[in-house]
Amino acid sequence: MERLYAHLQARDPGEPEFHQAVGEVLETLGPVLAARPELIDAAMLERLTEPDRQLMFRVPWQDDSGRVRVNRGFRVEFNGALGPYKGGLRFHPSVSLSVVKFLGFEQVFKNALTGLNLGGGKGGSDFDPHGRSDAEVMRFAQSFMTELYRHLGEHTDVPAGDIGVGGRELGYLFGQYRRITGRWEAGVLTGKGLGWGGSPGRVEATGYGNVLFAREMLLRRGEDLEGLQVVVSGSGNVAIHSVEKAQAFGANVLTVSDSSGYVVDDKGIDLALLKQVKEVERGRVSDYAERRGSSARFVPGGSVWDVPADLALPSATQNELDAGAAHVLIRNGVRAVSEGANMPVTPDAVRLFQEAGVSFGPGKAANAGGVAVSGLEMRQNAGRELWTFERVEQELTRIMTELHANVAETADRYGAPGDYVTGANIAGFERVADAVLAQGLV
Ligand code: NDP
Repeated sequence: MERLYAHLQARDPGEPEFHQAVGEVLETLGPVLAARPELIDAAMLERLTEPDRQLMFRVPWQDDSGRVRVNRGFRVEFNGALGPYKGGLRFHPSVSLSVVKFLGFEQVFKNALTGLNLGGGKGGSDFDPHGRSDAEVMRFAQSFMTELYRHLGEHTDVPAGDIGVGGRELGYLFGQYRRITGRWEAGVLTGKGLGWGGSPGRVEATGYGNVLFAREMLLRRGEDLEGLQVVVSGSGNVAIHSVEKAQAFGANVLTVSDSSGYVVDDKGIDLALLKQVKEVERGRVSDYAERRGSSARFVPGGSVWDVPADLALPSATQNELDAGAAHVLIRNGVRAVSEGANMPVTPDAVRLFQEAGVSFGPGKAANAGGVAVSGLEMRQNAGRELWTFERVEQELTRIMTELHANVAETADRYGAPGDYVTGANIAGFERVADAVLAQGLV
């Protein structure tokens, strides 16, 4: 594994996020490879760390002043052994091939853990939607889809949203796909609007799922969410719905954040105000603090992890919680950390949490609720059905509970009780590896 890791670094230098994601998985696979040497003979690690294919393309568009802009688009179809490629699109200036490969690699295992038939992929662009008008976002999305559409299809590759891609962007993307292909192919994108093929509960799914996973970890420790103090980072889709679900379980959520700083609200986050500021007005968390009154203050540029809590839900972006932050959280008595975002906790910080006996839920398990409900959206589209919110939430709860049990049991079986990282990596890896083996030299 060390040789493979060195080879990946040498062959694709300049992809630190991808190397980090692969390194975290390789570190935990020793026991399964020792038990199943046929996977080594089949070069399974080499095959699973090389994407099926990776696409990069030019996205030209015009801003409101008439100036021509050029961004770069990506789609990495990482592994299709379990089903059509499935994974979101991210629009953020930090998007690079390395970021998309790391996300695609993680997605393969995450999708396997849901128990559904979904392959793994990811895509996006270094386009920054912040401060852009609706018309600019539409022109960009249309240009992006004009290139990407030829690689998509309900049985081929099915994107969804991610950072910077929500209901508005998905609407523009779907409209352009429909226009170019002349087909109303609902199953080609998930996260669609409720009136045109979307699923109830998809918007809520990642945040709700993460809280459900965190709750299962706490229950295993003999605790529950009721009355716990919770810190959440981010203030986007995942963060908002994590706040909502944690509050529904009786927890007190103290914080949200964005790239300019964080808000701490002693009375607990006012969800209605947060949704108004972020979802309706597309404002900043500092606007929330200004409007909320004396219970809330905005801390510019600070670390949200300085706020003492029992449970931490990092829900913004990769590597946002490092070893220094982990030390502070541990000193303040944190008992569980569950990754709403993808890879928000650095490897050093993960190690510190595990050594301190803090329950740690890795993103590929903890935030799998989003893609799970995307899978349910595809099922509804295929059957031309529309389920109720209650039915979707019930299914999500079942999936997250079974996923937690599967990950915990796998960790026990491979001699790492309580280690959700090892459990998730091995359970996901075995399901994908078995499918690849069965399908021959693919
Ligand atoms: P959104 O775009 O809705 O929200 C992202 C939030 O994170 C914003 O508050 C944003 O603040 C903050 N953020 C983003 N980048 C940075 C940064 N570099 N530094 C500080 N803050 C940052 O995205 P989502 O909520 O959809 O996604 C959040 C995370 O969850 C991502 O890691 C994503 O991959 C993961 N995820 C999302 C799923 C989904 O269904 N949406 C499914 C599974 C995982 P600002 O506005 O200032 O940029």
